[in-house]
Amino acid sequence: MTEQNPLLDFSGLPRFDAIKAEHVTPAIDTLLAQSRAVVSQLEAPQAQVSWDNFVAPLEQATELLGRAWGIVSHLNNVVDTPELRATYNENQPKVTEFWTALGQNEVLFAKYKALRASAEFATLSPARQRIIDNAVRDFRMGGAELPAEQKERYAEIQEQHAAVSTRFSENVLDATNDFKLLVADEADLAGVPADVKAAARAAAEKEGKAGYEFSLHFPSYFPLLQFADKRELREAIYRANATKASDQAEGFSKKDDWDNTANIVTLLKLRDEEAKLLGYRNFAEVSLVPKMAQSPEQVISFLEDLAQRARPYAQQDLDELKQFAREELGLDELKAWDIPYASEKLQERRYAFSAQEVKQYFPEPKVVDGLFRLIQRLFNVDIKTDSAPVWHPDVRFFRIERAGKLIGQFYLDLYARAGKSGGAWMDDARGRRASGDKVQTPVAYLTCNFTEPAVVDGVAQPSLFTHDEVITLFHEFGHGLHHMLTVVDELGVSGIAGVEWDAVELPSQFMENFCWEWDVLEHMTAHATTGEPLPRALYDKMLAAKNFQSGLQTLRQVEFSLLDMHLHYDYDANGSQSVQAVIDGVRQQFALIIPPAFNRFQNSFGHIFAGGYAAGYYSYKWAEVLSADVYAAFEEAQAISPAATAETGKRYLEEILSVGGSRPALESFTAFRGREPSIDALLRHSGMAA
Ligand SMILES: [Zn+2]
Repeated sequence: MTEQNPLLDFSGLPRFDAIKAEHVTPAIDTLLAQSRAVVSQLEAPQAQVSWDNFVAPLEQATELLGRAWGIVSHLNNVVDTPELRATYNENQPKVTEFWTALGQNEVLFAKYKALRASAEFATLSPARQRIIDNAVRDFRMGGAELPAEQKERYAEIQEQHAAVSTRFSENVLDATNDFKLLVADEADLAGVPADVKAAARAAAEKEGKAGYEFSLHFPSYFPLLQFADKRELREAIYRANATKASDQAEGFSKKDDWDNTANIVTLLKLRDEEAKLLGYRNFAEVSLVPKMAQSPEQVISFLEDLAQRARPYAQQDLDELKQFAREELGLDELKAWDIPYASEKLQERRYAFSAQEVKQYFPEPKVVDGLFRLIQRLFNVDIKTDSAPVWHPDVRFFRIERAGKLIGQFYLDLYARAGKSGGAWMDDARGRRASGDKVQTPVAYLTCNFTEPAVVDGVAQPSLFTHDEVITLFHEFGHGLHHMLTVVDELGVSGIAGVEWDAVELPSQFMENFCWEWDVLEHMTAHATTGEPLPRALYDKMLAAKNFQSGLQTLRQVEFSLLDMHLHYDYDANGSQSVQAVIDGVRQQFALIIPPAFNRFQNSFGHIFAGGYAAGYYSYKWAEVLSADVYAAFEEAQAISPAATAETGKRYLEEILSVGGSRPALESFTAFRGREPSIDALLRHSGMAA
């Protein structure tokens, strides 16, 4: 007998100690074949379509494929090797093709509709009903109901859209990689921190050049804008960044080839055509179908209202900045390339503390322990060390229990290392499902890229976290709890599955708030050498700096969100008006800082032209309203008693966290708060309340 492929072993947790690159192709091929076999069985006519004879077997078959591929993707993200990358890239098209074909399978669509119309539907649980409704919706939005000719056109639109969108991001990437600003004389870099200069020096050396080389990658260009005393230098890098991939680009080795101006118009035209094929007035309506927001009009008025409220604070921020720049920096007219520089100087002046100083109070064990204790207290659970095969010795594994009963488990992979993708994220290794007394508990991956512990004289010192890193950790844990504390039995809507895009950041942003609570910080900090908790005076300074320029920042987010909405709502891509004119119009009405005429920010706005955020950029602010309002309920309870806080934690767990995608997010919110969301808490938390 040959040994079993560990990727095909679903009896327990993934066998990370045994899975190798060579297992991927045979496992994925086997699972694809099995899934296809189930799909073709289910395509056969059935006398009566039911949950048990149709949805359940389909879900069962595809779940294993999803789980195995999830393991491969995860490994590709956290321990990238040439062998793994090769097999990942080789298998990815097959997997994508399977899911795409499944989403357009007309026989399956007809069966979902038959089930939706059957007498059985009314007898199903709300979670099962929602899974069927979501499936019917997704088939419909995928063009499954269109007549043959239009269906063909729909497919062409998708194909062209994917190609142009890929081209859009390639242009941005190529232009970003191409531009180089070489500074010969170190004296010209006055004000720039030593580590930034060292990186620029190394970049030049690598290409056999003398001097300092800067690029348009964020860690290179932004510190130059922020710190360089020499104004011409700031202007040069600002101009390059604001014109990349556009008709205004200069100093790039290619211009027309990388210009995204026409690609933007093509994408907007294709989206408009898709919307009309599907029977909608515009693409904004299409984008909102699976979201929490009800209509483009509702989103636009939410944004305009927020703009109006933020404006006086933004005006005050700008006036202060202008005055400071004039009086202290000798900048009579504040140009676009002066804003990060002057802001940095003002911030340093006003809140005399450094991130470095704060960091000394956040050693990793203390932070992780503080986070776990908070979770245990809020949600009445226990977090315990557990063991499982892992992909790297730094990874730890834990279990969550309530009253001795296993609820979920998670991997914690905190440190940056070679072969690991940047950023922080939560992903699911396994979702919750249950039938009868058979329960599959959820398992999560929590991945960050913090600094690993330094080793001094052979002894590992605890890693020190910046406050931003602590916030990131809490944020990802918010997603993790959403996934793990679910009580929903149906895989398709348990945890974060099926949660609306514009509501999915609620639990994560909610957790961030605790990183600003004195009661939490006091017990979560210990100075690296003295062991003292965070001093109250330093905390007060951090709190004061928290909302620095929040008026201007809010207005900027609103400006991006509004131009995204208008381009997909009332802009006629086939008419004579230019995209630039729409953007100028939004800025005239809502922005306080009008960028220079050469600015082509939109030409690298990948979120909406090469990501999933078209007519969806507003989601960031939308979810923030929800998370701030939920947190306000905790603030109100804390002012009453510990018992009231405990009760609020229980209600949050029951009404929002544990119900996942089994009902609309608005229903969950209202059940928790006893009313619809209000913007007041967000304004107050951002220092913009009257
Ligand atoms: Zn998030």
